[in-house]
Amino acid sequence: MDEYILMNSTMPEQPEPYWRDSFDVESFPTLEEDLDVDVVIVGGGISGITTAYRLSEEGLKIALVEADVLLNGTTGHTTAKITAQHGAIYDELTSHLGKEKAKLYYDAATDAMAFIQNLVQDKKIDCDFSNEDAYLYTTMNTGVNKLQNEFEAYKQLGIKGELVQTIPLNLPVKAALVMKGQAQFHPLKYLSYLVGKIKENGGFIFEHTVAEDIKEGNQPTVLTRGGSKVTANSVVVASHFPFYDGGGLYFSRLHVERSYILAAKVPKGECPDGMYLNVDSPSRSLRYTMQDGEKLALIGGEEHKTGQGINTKYHYDALEQYGMELFSDLNIEYRWSTQDMVTLDKVPYIGKVSRMHQNIFVASGYRKWGMTNGTMAGLLLSDLILKRENRYESLYRPSRFIADPSVKHFITHNADVAKQLLKGKFDKNEKHPDDVKKDEAAVVTVNGKRAGAYRDSEGQLHVVDTTCTHMGCEVHWNDGDRSWDCPCHGSRYSPSGDVLEGPAKKPLKKL
Ligand SMILES: Cc1cc2nc3c(=O)[nH]c(=O)nc-3n(C[C@H](O)[C@H](O)[C@H](O)COP(=O)(O)OP(=O)(O)OC[C@H]3O[C@@H](n4cnc5c(N)ncnc54)[C@H](O)[C@@H]3O)c2cc1C
Repeated sequence: MDEYILMNSTMPEQPEPYWRDSFDVESFPTLEEDLDVDVVIVGGGISGITTAYRLSEEGLKIALVEADVLLNGTTGHTTAKITAQHGAIYDELTSHLGKEKAKLYYDAATDAMAFIQNLVQDKKIDCDFSNEDAYLYTTMNTGVNKLQNEFEAYKQLGIKGELVQTIPLNLPVKAALVMKGQAQFHPLKYLSYLVGKIKENGGFIFEHTVAEDIKEGNQPTVLTRGGSKVTANSVVVASHFPFYDGGGLYFSRLHVERSYILAAKVPKGECPDGMYLNVDSPSRSLRYTMQDGEKLALIGGEEHKTGQGINTKYHYDALEQYGMELFSDLNIEYRWSTQDMVTLDKVPYIGKVSRMHQNIFVASGYRKWGMTNGTMAGLLLSDLILKRENRYESLYRPSRFIADPSVKHFITHNADVAKQLLKGKFDKNEKHPDDVKKDEAAVVTVNGKRAGAYRDSEGQLHVVDTTCTHMGCEVHWNDGDRSWDCPCHGSRYSPSGDVLEGPAKKPLKKL
């Protein structure tokens, strides 16, 4: 690709999500001693916090352990639409899993949305919550059929929706499917309320505490990198990609997709209410949020497998172009990107980590619909831990193995991992570390071996072994977020090789 030229001079240099800039999340200490609790929950995103909230409200003694700071993973970088319209999923679920499961999936998303809405209303949580209509749209003839099939699935499943010809967006749409009365919010404001309640209920919360492994048994123990241990009756792995596999083979059953978001001020009156998502390729999404009484448009899309995208700045450029099609002007205030997991059959894995372990639970694979799926994880996992019936248990059971179409995906995904394992290992890289300029990175050859070199703004060179420490794939440079990203399971590392996102637990080898 030719050298990238920013289309708009207002594009921020560093990626930062609007959510984190507009709200301060409380800080918590690092775990420095051993602890005994009823339940230990690993991961401070929507899944971990909702589970911890629910269990602490029921009087259980919980510990929430976060490797970084709370709400700085995918939940801190989301778009935060709260809806049961998870793309054009219902036609696909009906044909692959059957009508009953497809309906159950819809009911679960609706229940999760109702849980959030009721809590916000009952507790008067100030979190910019608003009810909005959700639209799926297409600007291509090929998308019309897809939306018609999806609408047929709505009718079969009793989902309220309407097929329409126009939408409030300034786009030449061919068809659109609306699901009314959905919602959106500021995820950090909402989840900080839950965090406050966990504290009030006597729960322990620790940050900068990396869970490295679980010692299994009747009383499983989470072992942390600092050496402290937390022993409990149950452990919940809510670390996005499960940091502990427990025989569930998650590395072969989950793939990771990355997407990009711009937040921009647009001329008054041009950004409509509502939440929008196309069914075409490349993906495009829009919602607004209020900033100081004015609408800020959140423009998203450009998804690709992590580490397999082209020049990352190119993706921001493409979103900016989309924004310019929608609005007469754009003042881009924020840009950021993040990733989410996708399961083989597109239904999340929420439940016991595998058949071998009755007291270790997992929640992952939300396919970019974690506001409802992550909330459902909190509701379902707390019911399982409290030994209560939950009608969604079998739908989400991680040990399910559905032959069609997951076998095909299983084979394709593992073939892709195998390809990525080999890819790049034997490439000849002519570049030498001396060729790398300030604030640039490149794959170089050091002593005949592939290596990654980054020169910081002070001129200091950081050279790392580009072999991912999770399963040995070769990492690639992500110039938008300045990180080394793994194409196989989405681990991400800082320019100097420290782990930013798992499943990798160890840093890249420094050379
Ligand atoms: C671009 C994009 C847009 C999206 N938009 C929407 C949307 O509009 N609506 C919607 O419903 N969903 C959306 N999603 C999906 C949603 O944001 C995610 O599914 C959800 O936030 C995942 O939450 P989580 O709690 O599982 O993971 P996270 O929020 O990532 O939390 C996991 C936490 O675990 C911690 N952790 C990891 N490993 C360890 C360890 N070893 N020890 C301790 N802690 C650890 C991490 O640091 C992290 O804080 C979007 C996703 C993407 C990628």
